[in-house]
Amino acid sequence: MRYSRALTAVSVVLGAVFIRAQNTDRVSAVRDAAIGGTARNILLFIGDGMGDAEITLARYYAVGAAGRLALDTLPMTGAYTTYAVEEHDPSLPNYVPDSASTGTAWATGHKTSNGRISTSARDDRDLPTILEIAQQRGYLTGDVTTAELTDATPAVLAAHVARRACQGPADMAACPQDRKSAGGPGSIAEQEIAHNVDVLMGGGAARFEQAMKDGRTPIQNAAKNGYEVIRDAAGLERAKRGRKLLGLFAKGNMTTEWSGEEARPYPSNVGSPQRCTEDHRPAGEPALAQMTTTALALLDRPGAGPGFFLQVEGASIDKQDHVADPCGQIGETIAFDRAIKIGIDYAKAHPGTLLVVTADHAHTSQIVGRATETDHPTGSISELLTIDRAPLTVSYGTNLYHRSQDHTGTQLRIAAMGPQAAGVVGVIDQTDLFQLMLRALEPRR
Ligand SMILES: [Zn+2]
Repeated sequence: MRYSRALTAVSVVLGAVFIRAQNTDRVSAVRDAAIGGTARNILLFIGDGMGDAEITLARYYAVGAAGRLALDTLPMTGAYTTYAVEEHDPSLPNYVPDSASTGTAWATGHKTSNGRISTSARDDRDLPTILEIAQQRGYLTGDVTTAELTDATPAVLAAHVARRACQGPADMAACPQDRKSAGGPGSIAEQEIAHNVDVLMGGGAARFEQAMKDGRTPIQNAAKNGYEVIRDAAGLERAKRGRKLLGLFAKGNMTTEWSGEEARPYPSNVGSPQRCTEDHRPAGEPALAQMTTTALALLDRPGAGPGFFLQVEGASIDKQDHVADPCGQIGETIAFDRAIKIGIDYAKAHPGTLLVVTADHAHTSQIVGRATETDHPTGSISELLTIDRAPLTVSYGTNLYHRSQDHTGTQLRIAAMGPQAAGVVGVIDQTDLFQLMLRALEPRR
């Protein structure tokens, strides 16, 4: 008894020292956030499909029950609602959104219907985006993802089309009114290049290689418009400050960081929990953290304008949730967290940076109790062996086995540091994130 009490006393003392070190940092971070004011830079991290379950799964698996991820250390945390609206009647909510409607919400401040890219429901108006507003005010801009660059999250910042499928010049069947031949702005790939975003990095090279009406490709247009075009991780060394960068590191989505066994209906792997394989990404593709480091190095140009706006998406958390692959999903969440760590270090070294970490919509995976013959989830399950050496059961139950698991409609975490960060506290709506970033871009007085 006496011995364990002594141990407890020691751990309390150690804990107190640790907590005090953390608190010193947080007090000044909270003060900064509460003061508000204009941001020199905005760093926005979007974890696609990264709900509380996805964050908790990654944390328990990789750093343990008592561990904390980089994104857990942000001083201000709240929640936001993500619902979309119906195309036929925009006064009706659609409780389960996609990345296009939710991206439009945080990028423009307007709710729209699923599938739309920064255009309004029903009347198809173009909605000005935070990236466009930042550009008009002289900020440098960047848009980085592990998905195709023409996928919904990167697209909502620098394109306006009626349907998210209209990614390349040959993909325009669903958007006749947006075709160049109809006087429209063209596909997402064409618009992203025409927007002169300073830093564009991700996958989706095949979309930029499709021929336009004049026989040219968006990639050729980019080179003509002054972009340095790179196709692999080694090319990042050619990136130069003062020159626009288009990095296309995969034909489609970039490769996931981790791999493992998919979740399956009971009995799946119950009783023999898996550890994930962590070196799945080919060497030619950069990690999201490496892309983030490069983007920050290119956009951090004192004297080139008031500052920069950079969006970084961890895209395949969602995609691995859809295919019920827990290792793929956790690996993407951890890779996203490593990129966030780069951002937090930058923001700490550069006061006046507003950094926001959130997601676009919630997803399927759930942490559930141990499955037995008589009591188990009806969907797919997998047991993982965490760093605590304890089994962790994950379930995917929003669709049938081997069908695409569905998004869910629950609220999400939003966390932030820097000017205006206090605006994330409480329960807000996704469209409020646009207003918060807009306040951070107000001209300095
Ligand atoms: Zn999805």
